[in-house]
Amino acid sequence: MAGTPLDDVSRLAYLQAMDIDVWVQRTPQVKPGLRQEVAAPQSSLADQWTTLQEQVASCEQCELCATRTQTVFGSGNQQADWMFIGEAPGQSEDEQGLPFVGRAGQLLTEMIRALGFAREQVYIANVLKCRPPGNRDPKADEVTACRAYLQQQIDLVQPKMILAVGRIAAQNLLQSQEPLAKLRGKIHQWGEKPVIVIYHPAYLLRSPLEKRKAWQDLQFALKAFRDK
Ligand code: SF4
Repeated sequence: MAGTPLDDVSRLAYLQAMDIDVWVQRTPQVKPGLRQEVAAPQSSLADQWTTLQEQVASCEQCELCATRTQTVFGSGNQQADWMFIGEAPGQSEDEQGLPFVGRAGQLLTEMIRALGFAREQVYIANVLKCRPPGNRDPKADEVTACRAYLQQQIDLVQPKMILAVGRIAAQNLLQSQEPLAKLRGKIHQWGEKPVIVIYHPAYLLRSPLEKRKAWQDLQFALKAFRDK
């Protein structure tokens, strides 16, 4: 599902929605990311997605299966160049079965649009497919149990750029204990895929002064994508 990158007017509107002053945008017209001609998915690929989604929906490989309302598989363009990976579903996600909904989800959508895309043009998933009770941090054994599903999603999407959304997602993806401040602004790797760490929108809602750094991270990701 390819689409057209947003025009300048739309992008500026989204930057303003992120509380980013419009003069901050200094990059020239960028048309990153989308494969212009996307072939229709082969049936075998569609079958693999269906099988994986069914496996996740019935998964009982960690204790989170006992407390979830439903699994949150992921959503978006299954052939996206950009893949956003958060930590785990929260309450709204658990209720709706979709990643990044609610206020934080809206801000993530604005961040994606600030990059020049509609949300439907990227793929969004989480490290964990089930909500940890009370939104506690994921446990190591839960991440290990769920990791193969994320790996298969990445293998199927074949993104050209992975954005780790927030400290917890970044630390689990990169198997690092470094704080976010040390992880951002660098190109990391998941296998052969470049990974860039960005602030979690929930954190940005609590700390709006950090939105400028968040925009810097998005600019960094765009540049890394263009320079590949
Ligand atoms: S979090 Fe992952 S491993 Fe645990 S039950 Fe849910 S889908 Fe299975």
